[in-house]
Amino acid sequence: MTFTTRFAPSPTGPLHLGHAYSALLAHDMARAAGGRFLLRIDDLDRSRARDHWEAQIHDDLSWLGLTWDGAVRRESDCSEEYRNALEKLRNAGLTYACACTRRDIADAAAAPQEGVPVFGPDGRIYPGTCRDLHLPAGPDRAIRLNMARAAARALPAGFRETGPAHAGVQALAAQDLTATIGDVVLARRDMAASYHLAVVLDDAATGVTHVIRGEDLFDATRIHVLLQRLLDLPTPVYHHHGLIRDEDGKRLAKRDDARAIAKYRVEGATPADIRGMVGLAG
Ligand code: GLU
Repeated sequence: MTFTTRFAPSPTGPLHLGHAYSALLAHDMARAAGGRFLLRIDDLDRSRARDHWEAQIHDDLSWLGLTWDGAVRRESDCSEEYRNALEKLRNAGLTYACACTRRDIADAAAAPQEGVPVFGPDGRIYPGTCRDLHLPAGPDRAIRLNMARAAARALPAGFRETGPAHAGVQALAAQDLTATIGDVVLARRDMAASYHLAVVLDDAATGVTHVIRGEDLFDATRIHVLLQRLLDLPTPVYHHHGLIRDEDGKRLAKRDDARAIAKYRVEGATPADIRGMVGLAG
């Protein structure tokens, strides 16, 4: 199978040095393997996606010297695919509708037990309030995965990781998934799919064999590998790379405009300078 990877930014702000690192690394790995490098626009969150940010993504990546193969996939064009997958999981009895607000969830989890994790890769671990209520789906309701049931149905053995921090085969345990991740959201009122469901379907639909992404997504990958198994999709190899941090050690976020690629461009930096700043040889 041809090595195929992708860079999948959300058009909700400027690309910064952290994005440059991820994109350049994925691009270089694909080219070194004689494989394919794809660009995807993760614009599911329509309330935050902006056309001008999408245009800026194309512009910055081209300026960096990156070329991508084939058509650009945009998540906002794929709602039908997401709905079909959701339907499949629902028919398998693995999802339920949830009426809880963020406040409800915070209140229900107000007295955490010592040693029990409160937050997972999907935010606050859901306390399960609506799990057995059999609520009908509705415009004000999220759809959640029943994690215990899903893990009991089809727990994959694990996934192959090539990133520096966790290189090797990563095993998955049902107990870990329920205790440290819980019933993640798969869709909510204003979005056809959550990030987790969309990314799994997107990667499969575009034949991605290697996912190259920041190590902040390492725990989320466990959700993705489980969803792949539930939906009969192949599991790619994962490579979680280190993060570009600011001088306080904090990972760069969209609001870190100070490190936006566009800003360095205006100041006269070259693409080789950017490569140097993120520690990649030119
Ligand atoms: N849109 C996601 C992000 O920018 C893609 C990351 C991923 O799934 O690898 O964080």
